[in-house]
Amino acid sequence: MADDCLFCGIVAGSIPSETIDSDERTVAFMDINPATAGHALVVPRKHSADLLDIGEEDLTAVTLAAQRLTKRMKEVLGADGINLINACGAIAWQTVFHFHIHVVPRYEDDPLKLPWIPEPGDSDEIAATAARLRGDNG
Ligand code: 5GP
Ligand code: ZN
Repeated sequence: MADDCLFCGIVAGSIPSETIDSDERTVAFMDINPATAGHALVVPRKHSADLLDIGEEDLTAVTLAAQRLTKRMKEVLGADGINLINACGAIAWQTVFHFHIHVVPRYEDDPLKLPWIPEPGDSDEIAATAARLRGDNG
């Protein structure tokens, strides 16, 4: 448990939450600022700051818990679809630095919008970035 970590407090039960699922490695609870009805968060019990910090076993467990919730939200809430969202780093909108996956049920009439405008990219730039990511030329 990390000092002053909100989600460590929720996992420990010292900060109240609407818990909806838990297992040996994970806890899932409702987000207090829901993007849609049913918006939940899945966290590892063990503190890790973000996607770069979390261990493989916890990442696997959190992902499986998110899939479990996805099924439940479709069955119980009648969700038409689900977004899994993870923010890694403040610039990527992370505000709580205990790893979490947002499980956001989507409904045909919900107000959410894609946060970027899809436009064709420059194919040379795409290829150059791909080469850097592959590690071509050194
Ligand atoms: P992030 O911005 O890091 O991707 O997501 C953090 C999430 O935690 C936000 O969606 C925010 O609404 C949620 N949150 C912040 N404080 C609390 C809290 O005290 N309880 C619960 N259940 N959720 C919280
Ligand atoms: Zn924590």
